[in-house]
Formats: sequence, structure tokens, C-alpha cells
Amino acid sequence: MSQSVCILGVTGSIGQSTLKVLQQHPEKYSVFAVTAHSRILELVEICKQYRPKVVVVPSSQVKELQQYFHDQCLTDIEILTDEAGLIAVAEHADVDVVMAAIVGAAGLLPTLAAVKAGKRVLLANKEALVMSGDIMMQAAHDYHAELLPVDSEHNAIFQCLPVGYFQAERNGQPKQGVSRILLTASGGPFLNHSLEQLQSVTPAQACKHPNWSMGQKISVDSATLMNKGLELIEACHLFAISEQFVTVVVHPQSIIHSMVQYVDGSTLAQMGNPDMCTPIAHALAWPERIQTHVPALNLFANQQLDFQEPDTLRFPALKLARQAMQTGGLAPAILNAANEIAVAAFLKNDIGFTEISQVVEQTLNQVEGGAAESIERILQVDQMARSAAQQIVINKGS
Ligand code: NDP
Ligand code: MG
Repeated sequence: MSQSVCILGVTGSIGQSTLKVLQQHPEKYSVFAVTAHSRILELVEICKQYRPKVVVVPSSQVKELQQYFHDQCLTDIEILTDEAGLIAVAEHADVDVVMAAIVGAAGLLPTLAAVKAGKRVLLANKEALVMSGDIMMQAAHDYHAELLPVDSEHNAIFQCLPVGYFQAERNGQPKQGVSRILLTASGGPFLNHSLEQLQSVTPAQACKHPNWSMGQKISVDSATLMNKGLELIEACHLFAISEQFVTVVVHPQSIIHSMVQYVDGSTLAQMGNPDMCTPIAHALAWPERIQTHVPALNLFANQQLDFQEPDTLRFPALKLARQAMQTGGLAPAILNAANEIAVAAFLKNDIGFTEISQVVEQTLNQVEGGAAESIERILQVDQMARSAAQQIVINKGS
């Protein structure tokens, strides 16, 4: 029987790659619901091709969308709105698989709703897990959701871990012969820039990733290495391993997508051309495998694999994220909120590139953390951290 899919964030980079995979397997998957935020014309094109039953957009976009739907004879598609609409499709009884590909904290409640409805949840929206860590993982356990990593590194680690690893005790220790996770990082577009050069890089340069084509926010995160910091936190939660067992390895070619080391001296790596269709297809079909258009790796085509340690002096965001994970509780949510504000400010040219991690650090120093006892508390601290970070941004400009 075909699986019914809901794509949260269909108009984004991951959303588009997901459609590309689904398109190759129309007998296996159907698109039940899709959501968009600002790219309404793109959404209409997607609706023409995939004919979902439901779409979700902000209420401010409904009038325009209705007009397009009327013009294109798509009026049989139901339109839901805002966060309530996102949650409704994420937990909808007719949905089997939810692709969580909204960017940032906006994806938290819909992703959690999908988990609590016991869906197979393909997790791209790392910010949701960084913010809610233990609560999200506990919900996945309690509601028997299959929370599968789409982030290429975590999908690689998932592929290299022993079968049944997820059923083991979640005590922060590596188990079943695993000794360490090696989380690879491309190093981003500024890997070899000096601190001085980093001060004058532009948003356009930051968004031009050498190996991956991604949304703006994650592209800037890759350039500051905050993406790797968020991924470190993501790995600790997904694989129930404390941060001291996760080493970040800079590997500029992005051919190895991450590795798992074992006590017997083995290191298992997952390799492939850098294309998000591979981890998306893996998580969609797991434990089976389905075809994608991604060509097999050609190791004879001058492929060189280099590795180096990350430089946290030039890229302090990685250190801040590791410290936030060590602190635990609400610290990762504060880190994430401050980073979202700082990245948005950098993209608007309100602050410089090296000021992004300064805003994050100052926000972490200002906003009181404590235990992440509930989602309500996490959302409250998220708002406090956003206000504090916004003020720090304003002060930097004046
Ligand atoms: P994009 O910016 O390309 O897409 C983001 C999607 O979220 C769009 O569909 C956008 O709608 C929607 N969206 C944005 N803001 C809101 C909001 N406030 N409410 C509801 N929907 C919203 O991002 P990516 O696809 O690159 O990334 C998505 C997630 O996946 C991120 O968390 C990222 O870290 C993660 N990820 C991405 C990878 C990649 O290769 N791109 C790799 C690994 C992880 P619209 O476009 O209509 O405004
Ligand atoms: Mg990644």
C-alpha cells in the first residue's frame, strides 16, 4: 500500500529534494499535505503537479492563494492556516510519514505533534530537536514514533550504528561496542579565511556553500560552524550519547558524511556524493532502500579525502554549542534563539559575520537557563532569548 506523506516546509530546499525522491516512486508514496510560508507561487506549482488534499499557509496569504487555486482549478484542495494548521496536518490520521523541513523554531510544535501522533518523522528541522531535546526524544519513545534523521551527518551515523542501537538504555554512554561518533563538517565557504578576512564577508558569500545548495539560514550556520554546533547537540539527543563522545572532524570534500568508531578499532563511514536526496530516501524507505537519481561515487575521479581539526578561535560558535550542551537544560534553546536572531540580522546587514557568535555568547550570558521542564517553558525562554539577542543586535549597530 502506498504511504501518505506530509511535507512541512515544501517550498524549501529539503522540501524540494523530498518531492524529487517521491516523484521517482509514485506507486510507493502519495503527497497528502504540504505547507509553505512565503513562496506562494511555488506552492501553487507544487499543488498543480502533486495534487495534495490539504495545504497550510499563514492566514495573511489565504486570499492570494484562493485566487490562484480558483484560476488553476485547484479549489478541491483544502486550505488550513498558521500553527494550528501545521499541527493539524502533522498529526492527521491519514498521514503516515511527516517530513519536518520547516527552518528554525517555527517547526517545533508541528514536529512534536507528528511525534506525539506516532508518525514516522523524517527530521531535517534540527532546531526543533536542539530546543526540546529530552522532551522530543521521550515523546518519540512514549508514542512509538519513528524519529529518523535526515540531516546527512546523522543519517550517516544512523547507517553506521549497529542494528537495534535505539532500543538500548539512554544513559549518555556509547553502547553495543560503539566508542565514539565522528561528526564531519565541510568547514563552509570560509574554512581558510583569517579572522580579519572573516570580519568583512558578506551575506551573499556566506550563502554560497562549496558543496551543498541549501536555504539561507543553514548556509550561514554552515559558514559560522554553528550548524555543526547544532548538529553536535542533535547527535547527542538522537543517539543518547554525551558530547564528550562526539568529535567534530573537518572534511572539506563532504564525501564521508560522518563515522562511528567501535571498541575493536573499526571505523565505519557512510560515503556518497553530497545530495540530500540520499538521506531523504534512506529515511523514507528504511529499513528498505529505494532508488534516487544520485550517481554512485566514483572513487577514481581524483577523489581526495582530507581531514583536519576545527578551529574554534576563528569559529567560536562550535565551542558555544558544545558548552550549551554541557550546561544542558534550556541553554541549547537560548543558543538556538539567539543564533536565529543573529543570522537574520547578518542577512539584513545589521551586524557583521563575526558578530553572530558574539550575539549568541552575550545572550547566553544574559538569559537565565535552568531546567527544560516543559515545552511551554522552552517557548517562553525562546522568546526571552530572542528579545535579549535583538537588543544586543541594536546595541551593536549604535
Ligand atoms: P529553506 O529556507 O530552504 O526552507 C524552509 C522552509 O520552511 C520553507 O518551506 C519555508 O517556507 C518554511 N518556513 C520558513 N519560515 C516558516 C515559518 N515561520 N512557519 C512555517 N514555515 C516556515 O530551508 P532548508 O530546506 O534548507 O532547511 C530546512 C530545515 O532542514 C532547516 O532546519 C535546516 O537546518 C535543515 N537541513 C537542511 C539541509 C539542506 O541541505 N538544505 C540539510 C540538513 C538539514 P517559504 O519558503 O514558503 O517561505
Ligand atoms: Mg548536516
